[in-house]
Amino acid sequence: MEEEENLVSEEGEGEEEESESDEEESEEENNREGLPFLHRLLLRRDNDNVGGGATGGATVNFDRTLPGKHTYFGTEVEVEGRTILEESQVQTVPLISMPGFILMPQQVFPLTVFHPSVISLLRRVLSTSKTFGVVNLQADSAVWKGLVGTTAEIFEYGEEDPTDHTSIGFKVKARGRQRFKLMSTRREVDGNLTGTVVMLPEIKLENPMYAARLKSCDRFVSWNLEPITPPGSAGSSETEYHVTINHPRQTLDALAPFPAWVYRMYDNQRLVCRLHEELRNCGILNEDVTVPRDPEQLSWWIATNIPIQNHQKEFLLGIDSSVQRLRAELSLLSLCRGRVLACKECSTELAHQSDIFSMSREGPSGAFINPGGHLHETLTLYKAKNLKLVGTPCLEYSWFPGYAWTIIECVSCFCHIGWKFTAGSKALKPEQFYGFSRKSIEAKIEAPEDGGAGQNSEDNIIVM
Ligand SMILES: [Zn+2]
Repeated sequence: MEEEENLVSEEGEGEEEESESDEEESEEENNREGLPFLHRLLLRRDNDNVGGGATGGATVNFDRTLPGKHTYFGTEVEVEGRTILEESQVQTVPLISMPGFILMPQQVFPLTVFHPSVISLLRRVLSTSKTFGVVNLQADSAVWKGLVGTTAEIFEYGEEDPTDHTSIGFKVKARGRQRFKLMSTRREVDGNLTGTVVMLPEIKLENPMYAARLKSCDRFVSWNLEPITPPGSAGSSETEYHVTINHPRQTLDALAPFPAWVYRMYDNQRLVCRLHEELRNCGILNEDVTVPRDPEQLSWWIATNIPIQNHQKEFLLGIDSSVQRLRAELSLLSLCRGRVLACKECSTELAHQSDIFSMSREGPSGAFINPGGHLHETLTLYKAKNLKLVGTPCLEYSWFPGYAWTIIECVSCFCHIGWKFTAGSKALKPEQFYGFSRKSIEAKIEAPEDGGAGQNSEDNIIVM
């Protein structure tokens, strides 16, 4: 600790104040030495609302490409080649059920398996199509049929290293690819699941204004549907097309049965612009994160990264067209605005939606795996409240290299919420941040006085 403080002796006044408070804290810690261990843990209530702050002095900024590489996971062997399953066809795919996890296309996730039969399944997959299906199967078999899942394509794997005690299990990194509808499942002799599935197509709609035009008016108009999107103009909701009107008295509105604004509502490029604007308003879109501009990729990026519930994710996964998906997400995002994140168990407010930020280039939410093989979708936040720290900070197996993690619990119900990450060196910025396990939290309306527009209405408001 002393060595670290020497490193930053040239820091500003604010930093000095903070190191003083650190000292006070450590004195307080010493005073607690006489207390039993459990008591000391419980006393460490975390009311620290100081944001990690992306604003820092001349220090080392965290390399935001690191979390997506899952370096804690160990050395991996890269897998090449790709299998694309034909859309709308019935296929047989090996299935892995991951309860509580809805895999989205393009989402990267790590997986550690310990059971010999699942390891043999993954080895078989690696030697053939490199693809398996991920489904969120409930115990009730009645809901299996019709469930929408996503194929996962393995791109790296790692064997257990007998010389390293931290390297246990068979490790795989995979990426979500194609959606499928589950028709039936059967259990193989080795206990693994195989599913008969129908691959779902991604329906691509053409520009609605073009599709609905009166063809007889084509002589007045030259269509070229490449959108004109000046670089860096994501804030504009007005995307223009190279549409040249050859007749001076004609307008685009006159060329279709409905007014032009009706078609604009279903225009992919306009939806992309509106969503980028909405993400910027939420504070999620900034220079630290790469948000796709392609309509389909953006729709999956949003479904992966915004704090929505699993049934809403399932709903988005079931939509076949990016236009409908983007419209539903626009509706969900506008509902998210101004919300608070609360403990799922006891509804204690833990953070504000505007506290969400991206520690990773991929976005504010990432799927990480702990040494026990449990997958946690983790949402990163600058600050949080009403939390209690459990245990001491640990640098080992950190999802954010250079940051030590400490378990955090809800101060009211003691449910596990996630982790507080603190920089191992004071030169590293941000100094601290929080990672909430998404299954432990839910988004709620901040002011409950407008009871009529309560939470139950949220599903009804989704506009498609
Ligand atoms: Zn709670």
